[in-house]
Amino acid sequence: MPPAAPDRKVYLDNNATTRVDPAVVAAMLPFFTEHYGNPSSLHGFGGVVASAVAQARRAVQGLLGAAAEQEIMFTASGTEADSTAILSALATQPGRDEVVTSAVEHPAVLALCQHLTKARGTVVHVVPVDGLGRLDIEAYRRALGPRTAIVSMMWANNETGTIFPVSDLAALAHAAGALFHTDAVQAVGKLTIDVQAADIDMLSLSGHKLHAPKGIGALYVRRGLRLTPLLRGGGQERGRRAGTENVPGIVGLGHAAELARADLPDTMPRLGALRDRLEHGVLAAIGDVLVTGDPAHRLPNTSNLAFPHADSDGILTLLDRAGIACSSGSACKSGMQGPSHVLRAMRVPFETAHGAVRFSLSRETTDSDIDRVLAVLPGIVSRLRARPAARGPSAITLQPA
Ligand SMILES: *Cc1c(COP(=O)(O)O)cnc(C)c1O
Repeated sequence: MPPAAPDRKVYLDNNATTRVDPAVVAAMLPFFTEHYGNPSSLHGFGGVVASAVAQARRAVQGLLGAAAEQEIMFTASGTEADSTAILSALATQPGRDEVVTSAVEHPAVLALCQHLTKARGTVVHVVPVDGLGRLDIEAYRRALGPRTAIVSMMWANNETGTIFPVSDLAALAHAAGALFHTDAVQAVGKLTIDVQAADIDMLSLSGHKLHAPKGIGALYVRRGLRLTPLLRGGGQERGRRAGTENVPGIVGLGHAAELARADLPDTMPRLGALRDRLEHGVLAAIGDVLVTGDPAHRLPNTSNLAFPHADSDGILTLLDRAGIACSSGSACKSGMQGPSHVLRAMRVPFETAHGAVRFSLSRETTDSDIDRVLAVLPGIVSRLRARPAARGPSAITLQPA
């Protein structure tokens, strides 16, 4: 029998999703009960709700450093924001029909690109990364051309935390006459974002990665940019996204944006220190560990550690039994065979990538959470490494007759 898990669970899978902040829940509740009007209605019920939506829009604008609140368009997810940006760019840039993206994007971008190639014959240039997950800038320059409609490059990687130099990448895209979109789902709430300074045309974010609910996201669309809607119908979101607004979700996202903006300066250095303590502790206690990602440019909350000869499913299962939740990388991939496309793109050897575990912290992570991991992880890894199966098939020993 495994030891009973202690009462407080340790949740270190915040890049997959975060707990909705209780203050966010409290801000949302009146919009289920009292303020249930449709923001498009002209009566008082609608007016209260419309002004709450406007306030949330200003909060997201503030978090991104956008010039105007009209540049923020609410969507149902980060995925929808990504699709809207890429499909709109392909529809609005005459003479330009190609996409440039990276090999380590989230499936919200990569699966769409694969579909476009298959269904429409869209030429998509997938730029490789190096062993630290850094974009190959020379390959990027070569991929850009007079037919590039849009570049879509993530701000920060969900699996390794590696941060791309989006401002430089945007400048190169613009020099080629292309639009620049960034999937900033993992960056918003963790890094200071300034869409004007970075000269971003479109930016995607998702509520549930920053302590707002699932099912709400936003797309920043620079003023003056043409946008082709993904969904047509009513004139909501100034005709750019039809469908009655998810008012409680929008209010929750707005509140979460305010909290994130206020918390960021104190929280991120604290998380960086906790994450570093976790990594130093693991490296001191366990031999043969690879810290994946770019150590110089990494989200402060993310640590992706690969343990050769100890499979990640085994580690995750044993950690879960000890009350610790983390992940092998992309939440959309768990349960599927094979190492992640991100680690493969980084050419992490199979035996190493097979033992990758992602720890992702949030402002709710405590010192004792890290202590718990450090107390159990070394035993788990050595137990798995001792299993003969973990080393693959052994040589057959020929015995004299
Ligand atoms: C989670 C995530 C998404 C998808 O956002 P949803 O709101 O879950 O659709 C897209 N990109 C990245 C980098 C993510 O981490």
